[in-house]
Amino acid sequence: MKYIVVSGGVVSGIGKGVIASSTGLLLKTTGLKVTAIKIDPYMNIDAGTMRPQEHGEVYVLNDGGEVDLDLGNYERYLDVTLSRDNNITTGKIYSQVIEKERRGDYLGKTVQIVPHVTNAIQDWVERVAKIPVDNTGEEPDVCIVELGGTVGDIESAPFVEAMRQFQFRVGYENFALIHVSLVPDMHGEQKTKPTQTTVHALRGLGLLPDLIACRLIVRKPLEQATKEKISMFCHVAKEQVFGVHDVASVYHVPLLLQSQGIIPFLQKRLNLTSLKLTKEMI
Ligand code: ADP
Repeated sequence: MKYIVVSGGVVSGIGKGVIASSTGLLLKTTGLKVTAIKIDPYMNIDAGTMRPQEHGEVYVLNDGGEVDLDLGNYERYLDVTLSRDNNITTGKIYSQVIEKERRGDYLGKTVQIVPHVTNAIQDWVERVAKIPVDNTGEEPDVCIVELGGTVGDIESAPFVEAMRQFQFRVGYENFALIHVSLVPDMHGEQKTKPTQTTVHALRGLGLLPDLIACRLIVRKPLEQATKEKISMFCHVAKEQVFGVHDVASVYHVPLLLQSQGIIPFLQKRLNLTSLKLTKEMI
């Protein structure tokens, strides 16, 4: 199983969901089976009790799960059927850990965020990633994990730490990270400082970006000079910096990512071609 984590920095609502779904869709076009998990770092068990004016429409899954609307993006982009467990919230993780504590499963240990909550998050991701999501009934090859909120928030800290540990649990060649950051356009000038700051925070938490997706909230592509500056100040190669500007339809985002070479990059980084060859040999 290959995991692609999509995190975000600077502001929420930056387009992580769309970038995560688009990445999944592009990998699906190469013949891989793709599933998705959305992490929402709020205390609610699910979106069912949240006011739609505040949170957005509640999306209802086939199994009755009332979840974040990003799950709808995943079902539509990837043509899959997800279950309530594909949406992890802080509330779900805590209630599972507290239930185990009451049952005495921790054998008298002090129950802590690290390792008990962070282990529960990793176990959940590993378990749910393997659940078949299409009508072939086969285990997926790739799991896109979208980490809601922004890196650096108190709320998302246990999930960021869980993902930091997870990269070692599953191994370097099975874990890639896309960090979505904001590049503000100020009177025509593309500013890189917020991206430098968020990547710095991410690295400080032990996560290294494989790709930096730069969101521009204008209809103007990322300039070559901006890309070079981000590459230099964020310690990544130019090929690891992608621009995602505002487009007329979010269904154009996969093409935008494809034109910048996301498929060959991920194929190489995660050794995906060997995975496909092995599958074809079976
Ligand atoms: P997040 O997952 O970071 O909260 P979403 O992926 O849900 O963000 O996107 C937030 C909003 O921005 C959505 O309404 C989405 O349609 C819109 N959006 C995202 N990416 C783009 C883009 N490249 N161009 C235009 N609108 C976009």
